[in-house]
Formats: sequence, structure tokens, C-alpha cells
Amino acid sequence: MSEVLRLAVPNKGRLEGPTARLLSDAGLSYENAERALSVRVRNVALELLFVRTEDVGELVADGVAQLGITGLDLLAESGLPLEVVTLLGFGRCRLTAAVPNDSPVTDISGFTGLRVATAHPRITARYFGEAGIEMTLVPLRGSVEVAPKLDVADAIVDLVSSGSTMLVNGLRPVATLLESEAALVGGPGYPAGDGERVATMLQAVVAGRRQRYVLMNAPESALDDITAIIPGITAPSVVPLATRGMVAVHSVVAASDMWEVLPRLEKAGASGILVLPIEQMIP
Ligand code: AMP
Repeated sequence: MSEVLRLAVPNKGRLEGPTARLLSDAGLSYENAERALSVRVRNVALELLFVRTEDVGELVADGVAQLGITGLDLLAESGLPLEVVTLLGFGRCRLTAAVPNDSPVTDISGFTGLRVATAHPRITARYFGEAGIEMTLVPLRGSVEVAPKLDVADAIVDLVSSGSTMLVNGLRPVATLLESEAALVGGPGYPAGDGERVATMLQAVVAGRRQRYVLMNAPESALDDITAIIPGITAPSVVPLATRGMVAVHSVVAASDMWEVLPRLEKAGASGILVLPIEQMIP
């Protein structure tokens, strides 16, 4: 095992860009202009290993890296005994069973006897096995969605995010086998100390992205109503303004609630409402 902690990350594909943004948002400073296999982070005792997304789990399981970033679907498909340290909130998709639009199949019992193309044979076999449905697996590495058109298969199990690829290929979803997103994973020797620091920093970015910092001015008389709307992590901060009877209220609100919260704050008497991003947050 190397002295410096190693984090294996995707070097291409869908998870590459969002992973690079996460590392940069966490304040890791590195440059990989020549697209080297590994690079030492300047400001933290950490080495990044740039590998194919599907190899991340294996490298972590082998102890070549102590931590890795990969998709939950790949982790489940690999069957490797790794620990999900934290979910990262990107690379969201579903592993979906689908049939051609003109198929009479409406639920998974209809998959009996069908040829099912998939790049996730392990998860697929387990899913249909547990449901007591006998089908024939057609393992493929890619282009799963065109298998029915080529008459290589009658149905597919493939990853879907928006669903547009399936739509374009004339496929209709029937069931979801697995919900996936990118995750930080740790090996059997998942280290305390430096490893935990890396996990904490990435978690802080992920948590920050889900929240907004909200500031507003309000008459003191509206404080109870406003506190009820935005209770914050512990309680909102309240700072007196130079104008007597007026206060500034600061709080943290889930980004997904802003749509509902802002009009209520305005109605409760708040004005000068500002919504700011949070770069990192440890609740
Ligand atoms: P790659 O094959 O390198 O582009 O990476 C594929 C990984 O990205 C998958 O294993 C998933 O974890 C994730 N992913 C997210 N959305 C999708 C999608 N719509 N199709 C395929 N993979 C997706």
C-alpha cells in the first residue's frame, strides 16, 4: 500500500466531468494536462488515479486505491465487498427493464422465455431469479438499446436517466431494477484519518449543493412567522438593523424547498430577500 492515500476516479465517460467538478469544489488543487494515469494533489496528501469507471471498484477492492468514485450500478454488478462511504448526488439513473413499444408485455411476469440484452447480467439474473421468472440473458458491453431492433433480444435491461434514448429506440419501460448514483466507495482497509478527511470534504460539498443561504430583512413582529418557515440548522440568526424594530434574518434552506419558501417569506413580511449558494457545509 502506498504511503499517500489514493483515490481512484473515472478518466472518461459520464462520471468524469461531475467528478472533476466535485474534487475542484472540495478545494483539491491538481492539474492533469497530459492526462496521466495518476497525479499528486498539491495541497492535500492525496494521489488521484484516473481509470475507467468500471475499473474503479476492482482497484479499490485490490487495495491499489483506498477510495474510489463510481456508480452504484457498477458496484452492484461487480459484486465486490466495498463500502459506500457517501452518495455524491450526480450520475443519477435507473436500471430499467424495457420492451419494444409493440410488445404485449406489461409487467415483468411477461419476461418469461424472453431473450433479455443487458450490460448488467449479474443484477438482471438476480432480479428475475428472485421473481421466479425464467428468461435468457444476452450479455452485451454496449448499445443494449438497439438489441431488439437487431433481433438479438426481445427485451432489454439498461440504464436510463431522462428516458429519451429508450423513447428514440421505440422502447417502453416496464420495471425499475435499481436506482443508481455516483458514490464514494471504500475498500476493506478503508482508512481512518486521511481517508475520513477526504470523505468529510466531499460530503461537505454534496451537502452544500443541496442547500441555500437565505438572508432577509423583516420587522421584529414577523420573526415568529419567519422562524416557523425557515427553522435552519439549529435556529435562524437574527441581527438587529440600524432601523429600530427591524432585523436581518439569516438561515439555511433546502434548495428543493426554495420554490415554496420564498413566496411564504415575502407574505410573512420579509423584504430584501437574498439567496446565496453554499460551497461547503457540515451540518
Ligand atoms: P460511462 O459508461 O463511463 O459513461 O459511465 C457510465 C456510468 O454513468 C454508469 O455506470 C452509471 O453509473 C452512470 N450513468 C448515469 N446516467 C446514465 C445513463 N443515462 N446511461 C448510462 N450510464 C449512466
